[in-house]
Amino acid sequence: MKKITLFFILATLFVFVCFRVISDSKKMVMNVLQPDLLQIDLNNNRVIDDNETVCVAGLEAFTSNLLLSQELLANKYNIKLEDAIKLGFITDNYVESLLQNQMVKLKFTKKHTPYCRYAEIFYNGENYAQKLADVGLGIYNSRKSQKFYQNLERAQKLKLSILNHRSNKYHNLSCEYGLLSHDAVVIYTKDLPKNSKPCKFCHLSFPQRESAKSKISNIPPPPMEVTSGNIKFFLTDITVKLKPDKKCDNNVCKSILNEINQAQHSLDIAVYGWGSAPVIEKAIKNAVNRGVKLRLVFDTSDRKEDYYPNTQNLVDLAEISSSDKSVKSAHTNYLMHNKFIIIDNKTVLTGSMNYSSTGLSGFNANNLLIIKSDDIARLYTEEFEQMLSGKFHNDKAISLQNRTFDYGTNKVSIFFSPQDRVISNQLITLVNSSKKYVYVPSFLVTHEELTNALIRARKRGVIVKLILDATNANSKRSAIKKLRNSGISVKVENYAGKMHSKSIIIDDKYVVTGSMNFSNSGEMKNDENILIIDDPKFAIFYRNFFDYLWKKIPEKYSKQNVRSEGRNSIGSCSDGIDNNFDGKIDSEDEGCKFSAKR
Ligand SMILES: [Zn+2]
Repeated sequence: MKKITLFFILATLFVFVCFRVISDSKKMVMNVLQPDLLQIDLNNNRVIDDNETVCVAGLEAFTSNLLLSQELLANKYNIKLEDAIKLGFITDNYVESLLQNQMVKLKFTKKHTPYCRYAEIFYNGENYAQKLADVGLGIYNSRKSQKFYQNLERAQKLKLSILNHRSNKYHNLSCEYGLLSHDAVVIYTKDLPKNSKPCKFCHLSFPQRESAKSKISNIPPPPMEVTSGNIKFFLTDITVKLKPDKKCDNNVCKSILNEINQAQHSLDIAVYGWGSAPVIEKAIKNAVNRGVKLRLVFDTSDRKEDYYPNTQNLVDLAEISSSDKSVKSAHTNYLMHNKFIIIDNKTVLTGSMNYSSTGLSGFNANNLLIIKSDDIARLYTEEFEQMLSGKFHNDKAISLQNRTFDYGTNKVSIFFSPQDRVISNQLITLVNSSKKYVYVPSFLVTHEELTNALIRARKRGVIVKLILDATNANSKRSAIKKLRNSGISVKVENYAGKMHSKSIIIDDKYVVTGSMNFSNSGEMKNDENILIIDDPKFAIFYRNFFDYLWKKIPEKYSKQNVRSEGRNSIGSCSDGIDNNFDGKIDSEDEGCKFSAKR
């Protein structure tokens, strides 16, 4: 009898221990808001949710996060505010490289505020707060090591400035205008952009800036448009425009406007949605008023309403329109994801750019092609008319038309998803053929076979580099981890606008572009158009832009990801955009908020 009781006690204990082991499982640090405030993926969904902000118990540390007033803490330890920010600059960088995207264990304490729960954090078996105190960058349970003062001395020697991205003005660290500005970051003075202006309140006797040349910000931008044969190719630069607008005053938008203004007979528009684009919309209205026939194909899905609120305006203008609603009952997550316009059966506008303020203003990084070709227009019209007749997604028939078109001495081949299975049938072969380099500026990469092809290329000695958008960088499906583990350099962009291209550049020879993201859905489900251009002029043009962007994104973002709405994503806290789709905009977003801890 006693044995049975003992067995039950042991069994209960065993279950309890198992439960403890499971509850002690590791969680990923998604974001370092400041050294003592971390966002941790407690529910393992790879998304930063509400209630996933964790305060580090017993830890006091400085930060260069200007949204957080540090006066109290600085006063407590008798440190000048300016020096506190400098020490915070060192501390932030240390903690980001230590914890970002790493797995940690948590032990929650009883303390909590409305903003965070307190926990002790363990990384590699070590107490993180203790470690930070040991290296002299934090104060743990009111104790700090001798190294703290060494670091403070080191910090005091740093030459740092506050740069306000919105006004492009720079300030001293002690300037209250700088300290209070919302869209500002602390950077090395030598890295200030050449065209930034000194704040007149704190720079009475300028110039005070370092003469040392900037490593990052002064790289001259490469050309943003190029023509080859009858194709015009445009790019937009996320590092320039930090806020979207509806003005249509850049070259890309003006060129689209110009084409629409010249329309005489027909406008066939296939768009994912129609956002706020009043200038282009007015041009379409004028065209319809002068007798141009508008036909429209668009996507219907639940969540796009917020981003494409004006789709109905276009439906009202169109003589005939069709959405993929009819088949939506069967395939709720299949998209009509094209963004092309055919004008008078002879001009095709296509690429990655959506017809919205974030696309047309040049806020997002996109590409657009304007192609003058009756033959290419005919191929696009055939695809368009299938969708107009209600055939979407896998209901479409494969086009039997010629797919490869000569223009001058160069060639472009055009494919459609899902019927052409373009990643498996075309892109992997193309990557397999690479000899020197494969550059991928893209919103995301989740396609497994494409990922493997990139890894194989790297193993053959080909230089493989990717610049991906921050939004999807942490998602479970993202290939970032696998690519980085294979030694491939993947940088995550740190600007407010999205890296929205879906492109591959190979060996100064090929450019792949279009509407398709490099995912299974892009290849197998959605309606998409993809162009493979065999033209050194375009490839070199695009490669130059990629190199320029690569240099502008700090090296550390080849190891860690960036929160798409937060102080490290330049411009994202003042662009009026919900960059990370969490329903919170700018100062409402945790990443941009004042911490309520102190
Ligand atoms: Zn100032």
